[in-house]
Amino acid sequence: MDLKIKGKVIIVTGGAKGIGAGIVRCLADEGAIPVIAGRSADEGQRLMNDIKEGGGEAHVIAAELSVVENCRRVVEETLEKYQRIDGLINNAGINDGVGLESGNPEAFCASLEKNLYHYYNMAHYCLPSLKESKGAILNISSKTAVTGQGNTSGYASAKGAQLALTREWAVELLPYGIRVNAILPAEVMTPLYEKWLNTFPDPQKKIDSITKNIPLGQRMTTKEEIASMAAYLVSEQALHITGQQIYVDGGYVHLDRALAGVDE
Ligand code: NAP
Repeated sequence: MDLKIKGKVIIVTGGAKGIGAGIVRCLADEGAIPVIAGRSADEGQRLMNDIKEGGGEAHVIAAELSVVENCRRVVEETLEKYQRIDGLINNAGINDGVGLESGNPEAFCASLEKNLYHYYNMAHYCLPSLKESKGAILNISSKTAVTGQGNTSGYASAKGAQLALTREWAVELLPYGIRVNAILPAEVMTPLYEKWLNTFPDPQKKIDSITKNIPLGQRMTTKEEIASMAAYLVSEQALHITGQQIYVDGGYVHLDRALAGVDE
């Protein structure tokens, strides 16, 4: 299937690492132009160089996205370079463990700044360009929005709000033909996930206890599997899909718990 995204300019926040980097690679493989926006600019630069050496095109913009002005700058710089924006993939985030007991009001607000506000701010600043291109927005949320995790009020509420905004924007942007969808990953091995795993006394035991509960294959989802869905959702092949929340998780959230440990 030709996704028909050749030459499309798509901003991926947090595109230097993990799921974001997987999405950036997939977009570039399909001939799109990913703009890697966020921290870890060195990793972003390496990824961009790799894509360019392979004959593709990409761009990196170093930005701490919890600063509103930086979101505006990312959009301006993208427009200066390419004069168009066809898609926004809001992906940057951190599971920062601000709980009811472990946290406090200031830490809770700071967590929303890191995880939620830039999703709105990026969409806000991209909107005039997305209207021109009839582009698409994709929000990377998390299963924690619907399952909870414990001890992470800031992150979980940001992830829930991203789902609400997906529906809200899908409605608001109908007149412009701009589609808005969300992906909910569950368990994907990335630098963020590894950091979280290492907070447990026995990370291997923890990962074994998680993967045995993932119905399809008792394994984690790969970042490439999230990326394929992401590229599809922002592509011309998904022109009648909007307001959807898609679980790419091997059935982790929805299938019967009794399936735990059942062989393929
Ligand atoms: P990751 O490995 O930490 O990669 C995220 C990238 O985003 C990093 O480069 C990070 O910079 C950057 N970033 C984070 N917050 C930023 C900010 N405020 N400003 C600029 N850059 C920022 O994370 P990941 O696991 O790929 O997660 C990506 C998304 O998937 C997140 O929204 C997460 O909630 C969601 N998700 C992941 C999983 C999973 O299993 N991995 C499950 C559910 C949902 P640094 O390198 O400097 O930290």
